[in-house]
Amino acid sequence: MISPSLFTTARCPECVTALTPQPPGAACPSCHRVFDGSRGYLDLRPIAAFAEQTKYLDDALHIDARHETVAPPLLGSKIRNDRLRAFLALAPGDRVVDLGCGSGRTMIWNRDTGASFTGIDISAFFSKDALDSCDLLLGDLRRLPLADKAFTKAWSLDVLEHLSPQALHDMLSEASRVLADHGVMFVYTHVRKNGPLAVGVRLVNRLADGLERIGLLDLRTERLRKSDHLNPIADHEDLRRVAADAGFDVERITYYTPIIGAFMENILARMVEQRLARRATASAPPTADAGAGIRAARANAKTRLRKRGGVYWATRAVTGLMYLDVLLWGRFTSGPFFARLRKRPRRDR
Ligand SMILES: [Zn+2]
Repeated sequence: MISPSLFTTARCPECVTALTPQPPGAACPSCHRVFDGSRGYLDLRPIAAFAEQTKYLDDALHIDARHETVAPPLLGSKIRNDRLRAFLALAPGDRVVDLGCGSGRTMIWNRDTGASFTGIDISAFFSKDALDSCDLLLGDLRRLPLADKAFTKAWSLDVLEHLSPQALHDMLSEASRVLADHGVMFVYTHVRKNGPLAVGVRLVNRLADGLERIGLLDLRTERLRKSDHLNPIADHEDLRRVAADAGFDVERITYYTPIIGAFMENILARMVEQRLARRATASAPPTADAGAGIRAARANAKTRLRKRGGVYWATRAVTGLMYLDVLLWGRFTSGPFFARLRKRPRRDR
């Protein structure tokens, strides 16, 4: 949505001037650019071409339409969201920006906190729920079309690993600019250097590869999803340096070695999903397109999860097991991690 309050924070991506409403979008009173808002979000992308593209713009990744509807948080996404809530303690009065919001599902999952949310992404694969209830912007994370110090909190999930070192610096500097002094940002990403426990994850992935070779698993979408990882952060020391350069202190960190999680998500959940998709394809009319089966299966699964019946509670039980990855290995340094960065006021830098 485009709420009246969005106009207090949204800025022209070219000249950082406050925008004036010009239904259905907005206009810049300074450089006179007009911004489209006819699709339920403001398109504030800068004119300059994007030097870096992400695979998330690739339609092939969205053929299964996983962005259209939002199911309750489960499996890895529940673990991430629970960490987010523990690290950020969202409360009424918080103004939060989701940097790289995707479908907007993380904002939906946290609406109950009473905070207000603005989501920004480079591609407009927003869910209907998010379009109905959150302020949404299309824009470049390296050049946020947002006012200085407009937000109390921010998060960025599964985004940093897609950036080059330069883009990461630009993105974090912009995040720091739009946060109030002492504002906090939650990130989930990974560094290149893994800990010894990563051998467990590698074994699970090798098992997945083996299952794929004998035709029991199809990991093509997952491979496409990871194919544009640039992994700009070398190790956790590097993280502290990169954060400090952008005006942040790394205040809290929990490592995440998803050994049980990799088995549950990359193998078990994929097999169930592909079985359901095959069943849906078999019952679909023969003219249906290639993605129809998996789309129908996903829509069906999400409806069942939203009804919170047996399937939901079974998946919740599996999610509970996946928590062991946080409880057992959360203190051991490893590649993937959750962190809270706190903005240093300028005089302290
Ligand atoms: Zn302007």
